[in-house]
Amino acid sequence: MIVRNKRTSHNTLVGWLLATLLSFSSLLVVAAQRTQHASPFSFAIVADSQIGMVRLERDRENFAKVVKAINELKSGVRPSMAIIAGDLVDHANNQRELDSFIQVEKTFAIPVYLIPGNHDLARDGKHFEPSLLDLYRKNIGPDRFVVRQAGSLFVGLNSQLWIEGGGLAAEQFKWLEQQLRHRNQYRHVFIIQHHPLYLEAADEADEYFNTPLGWRTKLLRLFERARVTAVFTGHLHRNQSSTYHGIAMITTPSSCRNFDGSAFGYALVTVTDNGFSYHYRGVPGTLPDERPAK
Ligand SMILES: [Zn+2]
Repeated sequence: MIVRNKRTSHNTLVGWLLATLLSFSSLLVVAAQRTQHASPFSFAIVADSQIGMVRLERDRENFAKVVKAINELKSGVRPSMAIIAGDLVDHANNQRELDSFIQVEKTFAIPVYLIPGNHDLARDGKHFEPSLLDLYRKNIGPDRFVVRQAGSLFVGLNSQLWIEGGGLAAEQFKWLEQQLRHRNQYRHVFIIQHHPLYLEAADEADEYFNTPLGWRTKLLRLFERARVTAVFTGHLHRNQSSTYHGIAMITTPSSCRNFDGSAFGYALVTVTDNGFSYHYRGVPGTLPDERPAK
């Protein structure tokens, strides 16, 4: 079933997730026989902080307000970690943008795991430059991650490599296969990458906003085989969700600029034994977009 919500409201998205969790839970009952019980926990997702996209100071302030709002979440909804789904800055080689991002990112009161987006690895936002990957690793750190949290496995990927990473993409795919080899040890598996795999259909043509068909097909096959619970992405600057053979595909809006009128904020994901809930929360007091709509 493919569901596409161009302007998914908070409630519509939650309603959809509740409905689809029923189908996820039937898959998970099988897994439950072999995995440990996990206590409920939450994590936050921030996407496309993209410092410098609208105006550096304003974008930094919005990102800072989002981080502060996450830090102030009280027990019960307090996330145990945050994930930033790429496009940390707008211009990969702009040191002022990078410094601003790092300055705010350091204020997180919980562990943070990051992956790069196209704007972090391509000067024009499109064509991957290996020297910018070196710069990212020097300034930010590794461009992928694996985290185990309360019986769930999180794998963060560098999706710009799927665009034109050549041998680096093949190496990353092999690494990903290894991470998913012991899938039965985990209650849930969550994948995070910047680019959505597809927008409307799994076999659609390549374009700026999706993952190229060659790698997309391999990834979807692997994710289905590994019974991945959800793939979280950014890049679209809007709310979007669908399911692919029981896998939730969810895009979190930007904290900087959105094309669907979404507020600037973060997503809070709460994981239980039987599934997860996803809520996107706008942060009050974030500054409006100053640039005219495209
Ligand atoms: Zn992007």
